[in-house]
Amino acid sequence: MKDKYGRPIEDLRVTVTHVCNFSCFFCHMEGEGNDGGELTAEEISLVAKVGKEFGIKAVKLTGGEPTLRRDIVEIIRKLKDVGIEEVSMTTNGFLLDKIARKLKDAGLDRVNISLHSTSSQLFKEITAVNGFEKVVKGIEECNKVGLKPIKLNFVVTRKNISEVFKVIELAENLGVDEIHLIELHPVGLGKESFNYYVSLDEIKKTLKEKGKFLGTRNKHNRPRYQYGKVKVEVVKPYANPFFCAGCNRIRLTVDGKLKTCLYKEDRSVDIIDILRGNYTEEERISALRDAYRLAISIREPNFLFGVNKYEIKQVG
Ligand code: SAM
Repeated sequence: MKDKYGRPIEDLRVTVTHVCNFSCFFCHMEGEGNDGGELTAEEISLVAKVGKEFGIKAVKLTGGEPTLRRDIVEIIRKLKDVGIEEVSMTTNGFLLDKIARKLKDAGLDRVNISLHSTSSQLFKEITAVNGFEKVVKGIEECNKVGLKPIKLNFVVTRKNISEVFKVIELAENLGVDEIHLIELHPVGLGKESFNYYVSLDEIKKTLKEKGKFLGTRNKHNRPRYQYGKVKVEVVKPYANPFFCAGCNRIRLTVDGKLKTCLYKEDRSVDIIDILRGNYTEEERISALRDAYRLAISIREPNFLFGVNKYEIKQVG
């Protein structure tokens, strides 16, 4: 089912917890407030199962730090049991050296590992944790257990922009398949630290000149480049109508809302009463279908061609 802008929903991004063992100075916490509890594995998988009827094929687990959920294995298993094609996770990677095998065995298809520096010192400055070496071990473990393809997330700020090409080199040496260079977005703490924003335009130019432009991905119209053995994807959600035009994502917040856009607090449908109310299974599923229909009907691009005055420059 498509929204009124012709955009399908194919990807459900689930915030499984707000708890985190890192404290990245720019963290947007997926644009969510701090209140509310967490959904159970059962509730998450039911929302995904009904979402499948509306086009959901992939589920991305995020947080907070998803690996801190004690029942993360159960969450992954249940999502695979209801037939989600691809279950992936965005993680800071700190625990992967210990649990990558368990996650893979539970059915996790792949990981995005956030790595915002190539030096222990800057890593600590950005995340407040002395964890660079441990995250690198986690990446190696993912390779070992076949949790592939491995993608790195690198949020580019004034603090680490000089390391962009070093991290691509490190990725290549570690057998990482892909790296996402993410422009800082002004959401959550990202708003307060937006003075660390840097444009990725110069980097894109270099990627194109020294690497090869591979075209844009359907998802978010993100431009992709081949640079050595690594694929590099540039992620620019803010002030980018091309990104919104290619958005196929809907979110499930930690406290049970179907949220239609990272930026739009008011564009969500609260489904907690549907999940927790005293209903038969049939009534619950029927109400969840209505909730999806409502969410799709209120889904709007945050940045729209011809409406907002943003730089309209095709990527690539
Ligand atoms: N704890 C996990 C991690 O570090 O990957 C998952 C949660 S984190 C909120 C999800 C992704 O959003 C990470 O790759 C993180 O670096 C990125 N992110 C967080 N705040 C951001 C911001 N203000 N701008 C751009 N990306 C951001």
